[in-house]
Amino acid sequence: MQTVDYFVIGAGIAGLSAAARLAQHGRVVVCEAEGSPGVHASGRSAAFAHFDMDAPLVRALTAASLPLLEEPGARRHPALFIALEGQESDLDRVEAGYREWQPDVRRLSSDEARSLVPVLRDGENGIIGALLDEAGRKLDAHALLEGHRHALLAAGSEIATQSPVTSLRHEAAHWIVDTPGNSYSAKVVVNAAGAWADEIARLAGVALLGLIPLRRTVITFDVPDGMDVSAWPFTKTVGPGFYIEPEGRGRLLACPMDEHPSDPCDAQPEEEDIALAAWRVEQATTLAIPRLASKWAGLRTFTPERLPVCGFDPQAPGFFWLAGQGGFGLQTSPAMALAAEALATGAKWPEELQAVGVTPDQLSPSRFA
Ligand SMILES: Cc1cc2nc3c(=O)[nH]c(=O)nc-3n(C[C@H](O)[C@H](O)[C@H](O)COP(=O)(O)OP(=O)(O)OC[C@H]3O[C@@H](n4cnc5c(N)ncnc54)[C@H](O)[C@@H]3O)c2cc1C
Repeated sequence: MQTVDYFVIGAGIAGLSAAARLAQHGRVVVCEAEGSPGVHASGRSAAFAHFDMDAPLVRALTAASLPLLEEPGARRHPALFIALEGQESDLDRVEAGYREWQPDVRRLSSDEARSLVPVLRDGENGIIGALLDEAGRKLDAHALLEGHRHALLAAGSEIATQSPVTSLRHEAAHWIVDTPGNSYSAKVVVNAAGAWADEIARLAGVALLGLIPLRRTVITFDVPDGMDVSAWPFTKTVGPGFYIEPEGRGRLLACPMDEHPSDPCDAQPEEEDIALAAWRVEQATTLAIPRLASKWAGLRTFTPERLPVCGFDPQAPGFFWLAGQGGFGLQTSPAMALAAEALATGAKWPEELQAVGVTPDQLSPSRFA
């Protein structure tokens, strides 16, 4: 039996970013079911940071996070939000949410938008206007995970891969956690198991939050020879539709922004969602997608109110929730890790979060009790 200060379940971006901070306060073990970090949602995301998020709390967490997302984990890249026919009010909504944190955002005419992404159609099914954020961030999930892994190891803590947690019980003010090869004792267990976070609560006999994993599909495809898309902005419709973003010079990533409820699992793309992704891009652009370079799916896991949760369970001493990061878990990870550090160690609430008006109550699991 190993005794540790903080036992973190899940080596996705949530678990690793929090663990790297907690390792400054005590000995941490991060336990991951898979053979390496980031196999599930964190390694399957589109990895872009922007403010087109409906919830003010998520925008505030993003604002606190952007200054902490630096090279090599993040680099500046513009984001373009396009309105298709009928999406005028969506464009106003996105702009209003944006202006609070990014006042330099600019309205563009459809011609100006087409000068940035020349394949966008006008006329029927075409764009009617756009919003440009020149200060978006392209994220590198692998670099972010690696940075946290190095910080964790440098602080003398460790990651156990291929170590699924199989049981948890609370005895004498400690959690006893079993994996196939080892048992651990810790005063604090951090549940950062992504789509499986409610499964972990079930194992621990803790009330579930009602987390909802939603499958989302991504395709990549090559653009015609000679076309260089590397400087194109991340381009997203303001209402239902799709987003595309460059993957190097001659390849685009596309997503139809689908959401299908799923059990926690190794999500796989469904044929109809792959077809939908290609169709939506072909409808709104002059691109044809005769074949795919790759395709995948991942689970974006939401709380019932689609806001993240970070804090001790009100009924289960030492059981700490860090879950429900939905479609914004990479771009909010620095702020969420700061929150987790403060709440799990009892340290002062971070100035970075105070500055954007985020309070512990807004993240507390007590709101589901
Ligand atoms: C298609 C797609 C596009 C996205 N685009 C963006 C984007 O552009 N920007 C953005 O910010 N976010 C985006 N996201 C969301 C982001 O990826 C997630 O919010 C984030 O990765 C969640 O991180 P996590 O650590 O909570 O979950 P995960 O990365 O899923 O990590 C949870 C880990 O827990 C482990 N685990 C589960 N059960 C156990 C157990 N019993 N024992 C041990 N380990 C266990 C799992 O193996 C897994 O590795 C996207 C997601 C998807 C799917």
